[in-house]
Amino acid sequence: MSQLEKNKQGITLTKPYLENYPDKNGFFGPYGGCFVPPEIEKQMKLISEQYDLLKNDPEYLETLSRIRSDFQGRPTPLFFARNLSKYASPDKNIKIYLKREDLNHMGAHKLNHCMAEALIALKLGKKKIIAETGAGQHGVALATAAAYFNLKCDIYMGEIDIIKEKPNVVRMKILGANVIPATHGLKSLKEAVDIAFENYMKDPENIMYCIGSVVGPHPFPLMVRDFQSVIGTETKKQFKLKNDNKLPEHIVACCGGGSNAAGIFSAFIDDEDVKLYAVEPLGDGTGKLGSHAASISYGEDGVMHGFNSIMIKNLNDNEPGPVNSIASGLDYPSVGPEQALWFRSNRTEKNVGATDLEAVDAFFALSKLEGIIPALESSHAIAYALKLAKNVDNNSTIVVNLSGRGDKDIDYVVENYPQFIDKKYEIQ
Ligand SMILES: *Cc1c(COP(=O)(O)O)cnc(C)c1O
Repeated sequence: MSQLEKNKQGITLTKPYLENYPDKNGFFGPYGGCFVPPEIEKQMKLISEQYDLLKNDPEYLETLSRIRSDFQGRPTPLFFARNLSKYASPDKNIKIYLKREDLNHMGAHKLNHCMAEALIALKLGKKKIIAETGAGQHGVALATAAAYFNLKCDIYMGEIDIIKEKPNVVRMKILGANVIPATHGLKSLKEAVDIAFENYMKDPENIMYCIGSVVGPHPFPLMVRDFQSVIGTETKKQFKLKNDNKLPEHIVACCGGGSNAAGIFSAFIDDEDVKLYAVEPLGDGTGKLGSHAASISYGEDGVMHGFNSIMIKNLNDNEPGPVNSIASGLDYPSVGPEQALWFRSNRTEKNVGATDLEAVDAFFALSKLEGIIPALESSHAIAYALKLAKNVDNNSTIVVNLSGRGDKDIDYVVENYPQFIDKKYEIQ
C-alpha cells in the first residue's frame, strides 16, 4: 500500500485509549517496538519489568508526587492569556490559555521525565545515568535529576555542539555532570549517540541510558509519555474548574520527539470533540529536504534509533535524512511512535506547522503582550495558535502547552532577528 493510501485509510483507536496502547511489546498500532541488539534488548526488558511493578507501587508514586510538588513546583498554572487572545482574534472572542511548563524548575517540561527516569535508575540499583544531548536541554535536565538523587551522570555531546551550546555545557558541569565530547565524524548528535551506546554497553549493569523524549526502544516511549501525562491531567482539572466543567475545543503543542505534546494530549485522547494539534517545525517553509524538521508531515514509515515510526529519510538510502529548525529541541528526523499512531488514525490534525519566522514573531508577540518569554520550541505552538484563532468558531478555547522558557534563546534571537525588537503588537 502506498503511503498516501495508508494516510487516507487511517487506523481506528480502541477505547479506553490508555488501557489499550501500547500493547505488551510496546506497539502503538503499527508503530513502536524494540529494534535493538540482543544485549540492549535484555536491558530494555529489565527496565520494562521494573516499570510495570513501580507504576502501581504506592511508595514510588508518593515519592514522585512529592518531588513534583516540592522540587519541581507542580502543579504548573493554567494561565488565561487575555492580551494574546485579543491580539489573535480582534473581531472574535477566542480564549487562549497557556499551560505554564516554563515554570517547571529549570524552565522546561523535560524535568517531568528526567526526575522519574532517575528514580527508576535508583530503584534498579544503577550508579550512573547517561544520555546524549544535542543542544544540551536534555543534558541539563538529566544532570539536575542526577544531582538530586546523588547519581553519577555522563552526558555525551558532539564537539561542535559543545562549542555552540556553551551556556548549557557550563550548566551541566556546575550541576556535577561529566560532559564527554564526541570527536569523530561530524562531531554532532549522531556521533554523541554512537559513543553513548558504546559506553552503555561496557557496563549496562551499573548504568541506565535515559532517553530524552517519547522515542527510542520500548519501554521508553511508554514511560516518558506516562511521566509527561501529568501535564494533561493537571490541564484537564484546571480547565474544567475555570470553565464550568467544560473541555477546551483545541489543544496545541510543539512536536520534536513528541513528549510535551504526548503529555498534554494523553489526557484527552478519548474526548473526541477536543481537537489536537502537534505543531511541526517548517524551517524556511519551502518544504525541501534539509530545510525543515516536519517529520510527520513529510516523512515515511521506517525504523530508526530502535523503534518503528514516521521518519525523514535521505533521498537515496534508508538512513535518517537532514533536518533543520531554528529550535534545536525540535530538530529531529523522526517522531515518537505514539505521535505516528495519532496522526495515522486522524486523532491529531493534519498540516500543522509553523516556520522559523512565524515562531520568532510569536516569540516577540508573547513576550511583549504577556510578559512571558517562550522557548523557540514553544514559540512554534504559540505561532500555530495565532493562526488557528483566525479559523476557529467564535467563542472557542485554545490551550497551548508552553513547554519551556526562552532565556536560552534571547541572544540568538536578537542577533539574527533584530528587525523584531521594535515591532509593535497592538491590541484594540
Ligand atoms: C526538548 C524540548 C522540546 C521538544 O521535545 P518534545 O519531546 O517534542 O517535547 C520542546 N520544548 C522545549 C522547551 C524543549 O526543551
